[in-house]
Amino acid sequence: MGTENLQKIAVIGAGYSGLLTSTVLARLGYSVDIYEEHDKVGFPKHCTGLVSQEVVKFLEHISRDIIESQFYKIKFIDEKTNRYLEIRLASPVYRIDRVKTEKLLLNEAVRYGASIRYGHKIKGIRVKENKVSLVASNGEQADYDIVIIAEGLGGGLRKSLGVLHTPIWSYGINLDYDINDIAPEKNIIEIHVDSGIPGTLYGWRFTIAEKYVVVGGLSFDPLGLRRLIRNLSPAEKKRREIYGGRVVHGPPLPCKKQGGSIFIIGDAASMNKPLTGGGLYPVTVMARILQDRINQGDSLQEALLQSYCTVENMLNKQYRFIRELLDSRALSLLLSYASRLGLSNIVLEYDRHESVPRRVLKQKPLQSLLFGILILVTRPRLAYHMVRGMMH
Ligand SMILES: Cc1cc2nc3c(=O)[nH]c(=O)nc-3n(C[C@H](O)[C@H](O)[C@H](O)COP(=O)(O)OP(=O)(O)OC[C@H]3O[C@@H](n4cnc5c(N)ncnc54)[C@H](O)[C@@H]3O)c2cc1C
Repeated sequence: MGTENLQKIAVIGAGYSGLLTSTVLARLGYSVDIYEEHDKVGFPKHCTGLVSQEVVKFLEHISRDIIESQFYKIKFIDEKTNRYLEIRLASPVYRIDRVKTEKLLLNEAVRYGASIRYGHKIKGIRVKENKVSLVASNGEQADYDIVIIAEGLGGGLRKSLGVLHTPIWSYGINLDYDINDIAPEKNIIEIHVDSGIPGTLYGWRFTIAEKYVVVGGLSFDPLGLRRLIRNLSPAEKKRREIYGGRVVHGPPLPCKKQGGSIFIIGDAASMNKPLTGGGLYPVTVMARILQDRINQGDSLQEALLQSYCTVENMLNKQYRFIRELLDSRALSLLLSYASRLGLSNIVLEYDRHESVPRRVLKQKPLQSLLFGILILVTRPRLAYHMVRGMMH
């Protein structure tokens, strides 16, 4: 063990981001204390759990039992015009059991020596000399060399440190149903855009098993979300579960606001794919880079900073053009052009939204150029950001 590993680390928040990072650091030999305000992990459940193969591969060491189903295609449907667009996925997307994943990650972290303190809500962080002092709501105090804040969207600790950041977020909800009638096609994720319901983004529907479907949606307006979900829900159904929460769309916390002995990660730093709000992929990429950089000899601070900045850069590229699309009317327009121009059946990656314009151009050059002209005429800002994204 190098002298570096003697550093004491605290991770605040036992959600996916805190647990994954703790697992990686504990496996590398660091001393990690995890603080969680609740008395268990995975609570309250909120996430749909759709992730790419890259995430599942990184999690393989904990278990493949976390996979509930897999998908090879995404079908975008415009509820108003009934136009649709089907894309193939370069590699499968999986639905994972989020609660089980968090439990297994915690087991792994603990197996490598990490400790978890349940029922400890951290309410104060103070930097004194070269230590960071934490105060929990029960009055307990402890000093650390490095503190990783993974407190989720709330951002109370971030704000208390004077790190200002205002992300865009929407409401997201999932309903798991047992149904009697015909389930949506297997292995396809349906994405429904309804420009007739203002303030919404899109809804989704997919099958987990025979007669078991998940319906969900994202919206900036809770009433719009109710309508969106009602329209997508099967007629005859029995509800298994309802869960959801606030979904972050970015922009990511700027890299320059990270560093020293305190790092902010996950939803707390808006490390989310801007279109879907997916937070599991960006944190997984960060964890992989973190692990690689430490193995290559970087100091922990340097590895944390560089892994965060790489992901921030990727998310920023996505955010530049996707912020123009965070509205069902914009998505419906895009869908209408794409389906009219025959952009169906292209192959795309689930996570790398910033690479979509370049990939589509490669696969269907003529249609893409026409598509670009239409976007330039109707949404010049979007066209500008797409072209900028392709040039970087
Ligand atoms: C409806 C919905 C659907 C989603 N679907 C997907 C999806 O399909 N794919 C995907 O990749 N992402 C999805 N996401 C996003 C994903 O769930 C989040 O990005 C991810 O859970 C963020 O994890 P986190 O650890 O950063 O934050 P959280 O999961 O919010 O965890 C934060 C933890 O910190 C604890 N905490 C907070 N403050 C303190 C404190 N002061 N002291 C101690 N503990 C504290 C909390 O109790 C919590 O356990 C979805 C989100 C929602 C709401």
